[in-house]
Formats: sequence, C-alpha cells, structure tokens
Amino acid sequence: MKKLYITLALILSVLVACSPISSITTSEKETDQTMPKLQQEQASGTLRVYYLDVGQGDSTLIQTPKGQHILIDGGDNHKGDEVVDYLKQLGVKSLDAIIATHPDADHIGGLDTVIDAIPVKSVYAPRVSHTTNTYKDFLLAVKNSGLKIKTAKVGLTLPLDGITAEFVAPVAEYGKDLNAWSAVLRVQYGNTSFLFTGDAEARSEKDMLKSPKLLKVDVLKVGHHGSDTSTSQDFLNAVRPTYAVISAGKDNKYGHPKSAIINRLKRAKVTVYRTDTQGTITAVSDGKTIKFDTVR
Ligand SMILES: [Zn+2]
Repeated sequence: MKKLYITLALILSVLVACSPISSITTSEKETDQTMPKLQQEQASGTLRVYYLDVGQGDSTLIQTPKGQHILIDGGDNHKGDEVVDYLKQLGVKSLDAIIATHPDADHIGGLDTVIDAIPVKSVYAPRVSHTTNTYKDFLLAVKNSGLKIKTAKVGLTLPLDGITAEFVAPVAEYGKDLNAWSAVLRVQYGNTSFLFTGDAEARSEKDMLKSPKLLKVDVLKVGHHGSDTSTSQDFLNAVRPTYAVISAGKDNKYGHPKSAIINRLKRAKVTVYRTDTQGTITAVSDGKTIKFDTVR
C-alpha cells in the first residue's frame, strides 16, 4: 500500500511539473529575465534623463529613481505621436508632471497628443498665453483631462520623491516675449544636478543670475536650441556645467546651434551632446556620477 502511495505521489508530482500552470510560471520568469534594461536600472535607484530627438524643438523625459516621470515639452505638432511612442517604449504608464516651458509650437505642439494618450497628474506652465491654434489645442487637452494648469515660476518646487526639482525661472513678467517666459527647472539628485532651460535667452538669464547659487549644475540643457541669443558668458560662468545638451533639428532653418555658442562651450571645456547629430541623448545619474548614451 505504501509503495502505491509513493508511486501515486511520484506520478502526481510529474503531472504537476508538466502542467500548464508551471509552464506559465516559467514563461513569466523568462519575461523577467528579458525585462528592459531600463526597468532593471530604475530599480537600482538611478535618475535618467532622455533628451528626445524631436528635430527642431524640445522634449525631455525625466525618470526619477522612484519611477516617477516628468515630461518637459513635447516637440512640434507633428511630433506628438513619436513622443507618445517613445514614452510607451520606455514603459511610461503615467506622467507625474508635464512642464510646458512656454507657448511656442516647437515645445508645446506635441503635448496635446501626449495628454490625450497618457494619464497626467499635473501640468505646469508659465502665466503667459498665445493666440495660436497649437496653444489652444494644448489648453483644450488640459481641460479635457480635468486638470488645471499650475503656474510655473521661480521658487516653486515639484512634489517628487528622492530628487529636488525647483523652478528657477521665470523670475519676472515679460509681456509678449515668449522665450523670456520659459519655465526653467533645476533638478538635483544626490551630488548631481541638471538645468532645463527651455528657450530662455539672455534677458531671463540676467534675471536668473540674481540667484547664482541655484544655477551651478553638472548638465545644462542649452537654451533656445543653441541660439546665440542664449547662453551668455555670464550665465555660463554661473552654471559651470561639465556637460551640455543641445536639442536642435538637423539642417534647421535658424542655423541652430550657432558656432559662437559651440565655441563658447568648448572654451569653457564643456562636453557637448547634440540631438541633431547624435539623436536621442540619455544621461544616467546614480547620484554621484553621470553617464551619457546616444541612440540614433
Ligand atoms: Zn524652441
């Protein structure tokens, strides 16, 4: 009798081992092993910044060590779908914050598509409006998602875990000068720091220089696509970046980035990355050091 029980138990265990349930478990394990490198690294506490290649325009995704997501700008109108695809590829299921730096189309054009496609918790923008349909589309998308725009201005911090994210601009009001209104965000993770400047030009750089301590960072997103109306020498002296990222379109009609700015950065011994020549630029910080990667 005992022998029979043992035989039955053996048969049962073989059956269980071959059952569909165990094969599901195996395939789940396999999925884990092939989990995107990104998500594995996220678990180990890194801050990742993706300067997306959206041609002539800006769109930057920040992924915090706690897995929160902030999108700064969404590229031009026709880039919205690309930005959404990119966010989905990266496993972004919701955005903790969207920052519309200022109402120009090459920054907010794609944001309505993003807001329609991905749940968003907060939208920040400077208190300036525009008359274009692109801007109206953005406002409508925010309204349809049931959100109210929070005013981005100097001193306001984003409620995020594990990193500090604070607006250092706009410092003042700038009438119809949309670029000057650009919301500028400073992000600190451990000993590493980043500045996202939108299209801020010398006029608002001068105002930001009233609080120079806030400006020193490791990575500068160069203002206004490398235009020579931004990145004044005084501003660069205060920021003292080790790295700079320029978001611009290949052979764009404005001639961005300007050689004067590239040379100014070179003279300051700054390592420059460019989306027009290198595609999407990724910066990864472990809180101590920052590593860069480029994907065409
Ligand atoms: Zn721009």
